[in-house]
Amino acid sequence: MATRTPLMAGNWKMNLDHLQATHLVQKLDWSLRDGKHDHGAVEVAVLPPFTDIRSVQTLIDGDRLPLKYGAQDLSVHDSGAYTGEISGAFLAKLGCTYVAVGHSERREYHNETDAVVNAKIKAAYTHGLTPIFCCGEGLEIRQAGEQVAHVLGQIEAGLDGLPAEQAASIVIAYEPIWAIGTGEVATPEDAQEVCAAIRTKVAELYSGDLADGIRILYGGSVKSGNVAAIMAKEDVDGALVGGASLDAEEFTAICRFR
Ligand code: PEP
Repeated sequence: MATRTPLMAGNWKMNLDHLQATHLVQKLDWSLRDGKHDHGAVEVAVLPPFTDIRSVQTLIDGDRLPLKYGAQDLSVHDSGAYTGEISGAFLAKLGCTYVAVGHSERREYHNETDAVVNAKIKAAYTHGLTPIFCCGEGLEIRQAGEQVAHVLGQIEAGLDGLPAEQAASIVIAYEPIWAIGTGEVATPEDAQEVCAAIRTKVAELYSGDLADGIRILYGGSVKSGNVAAIMAKEDVDGALVGGASLDAEEFTAICRFR
């Protein structure tokens, strides 16, 4: 079985201006490198608002911080007359590693369909960015017990036509919508059920080896107090953290889940 390095990614959403962002990253630096804990091989990333990325880049590069960063969205287009859009090319130029695609808030408030999500995943790879492909079911679907079928439909549509060389590095984030920002965390068993089903689907679409190598994160009200139990599940390889990633101490504690 492949060894997968856990990934803890902080999705700041539309929070923190560039000064506040700088402050938070400086505090993370202090707490991630204070030498009091061996947090082992855990990759840590932050996804700030677009307007913060340059400041975050400068800090991380200047101080060689052990942090990666990325964006919360990108355009399906490379450049041109698309007012207000941000190209993956610009994000790559800013040194972004990751870009979130298909977050439920984008799907809900910006009408992003599975087809748009698929196009954005491909656009990310065009520019050398690694997508964090978000999927997850709403409460009604969960109550009807249809979460696995629903999420696997999103996975198939999102990965449609994506070559194996690209799919091999994708990060998938399972985020049940009813657990995002609600304080209502999925049980570790709920998370494992869907994450395992996603891995099996990826194995069917590509290969067992490829599926074994990709990281599948859980997201939805992850906190320092619940992260260890979720991370103990076999198919959960990290977390996409919203609210709790805005607090340096709390996010650091999440990153040191072991
Ligand atoms: C998210 O925004 O992806 C998220 C999981 O938010 P929260 O941790 O606040 O539920």
